[in-house]
Amino acid sequence: MCCSHSIEKDKEEKKTLEAFDLSSVKGMKFFDPHVHMTSRTTDDYQAMADAGVVALIEPAFWLGQPRTGLDSFRDYYSSLIGWERFRSSQFGIKHYCTIGLNSREANNEPLAEQVMELLPLFVYKDGVVGIGEIGFDDQTAAEEKYYRLQLELAKEAGLPVQIHTPHRDKKRGTQRSMDIALEHGLDPHMVIVDHNNEETVKEVLDRGFWAAFTIYPFTKMGNERMVDIATQYGPERIMINSAADWGISDPLAVPKTAALMKMRGLSDQDIELITYRNAITAFAQSGQIDEADFTSPKSIDQSGKFEGNTILRGGQQPRIDKSSIIIS
Ligand SMILES: [Zn+2]
Repeated sequence: MCCSHSIEKDKEEKKTLEAFDLSSVKGMKFFDPHVHMTSRTTDDYQAMADAGVVALIEPAFWLGQPRTGLDSFRDYYSSLIGWERFRSSQFGIKHYCTIGLNSREANNEPLAEQVMELLPLFVYKDGVVGIGEIGFDDQTAAEEKYYRLQLELAKEAGLPVQIHTPHRDKKRGTQRSMDIALEHGLDPHMVIVDHNNEETVKEVLDRGFWAAFTIYPFTKMGNERMVDIATQYGPERIMINSAADWGISDPLAVPKTAALMKMRGLSDQDIELITYRNAITAFAQSGQIDEADFTSPKSIDQSGKFEGNTILRGGQQPRIDKSSIIIS
């Protein structure tokens, strides 16, 4: 039948178009402003570097299992400015972080009180580009309390704020997050509202905030929807991230979406703003980002050490030869 034939043909064409191929964006640089590398492998770092990710921001977040004491927060924050930054450098990716008490763990008030005392020891460190990710999860009173306290801390430290908006009741949670930030006198230009969708983007942009989008399989945004949003709203104050973490997620979400945008006809200039430049402009307000750190090529020495330890386990040789299927 002619019709079924053409459907088959269309399917075939779609498959070819959607094959994993980043060659159209080869040579472009990407900045992933939200990715939880602590939960990822060295292979992810390698793949990100190969795909053009030159810098990233790792927000402090919930590790999937609630922490039971202050020391595990202390060690976690230390690793974000220490070991994880080093590990990233071993793949040629500049690593920044945001520091904060995440909304889920704000609900453990006795511990949250202690964490608030700890935060000032970390937020002024080199490479800390914001307070984050903070905001609402279940939209409880405790979440609001620690969100407000951390907005004050951001103001005091002169740092941008990276807001996690809730999965449930997102529209109301996003509005509340913005209302409260304004109430505390924050300049919307210092606030990056994350995990937006079609329902929230207009208001976030209209009110002068940065609108970040997480390209995350199944739950948040697919990248075809993202291309539609970018087409509709343009590139101004919009940025995308992978938010890759311990869940089903994709650390290549930013370069893949750039490739899809290119395929769907967005200009290189718009793609650059959405996948690189806007994140730098927003977070460089911290005074902590020098673009030259990730634009001028540097040689990588994978036998480098952090506090006596390298990323090479048991006498491994640096950098695996990716052109071979043999693992020796
Ligand atoms: Zn996150």
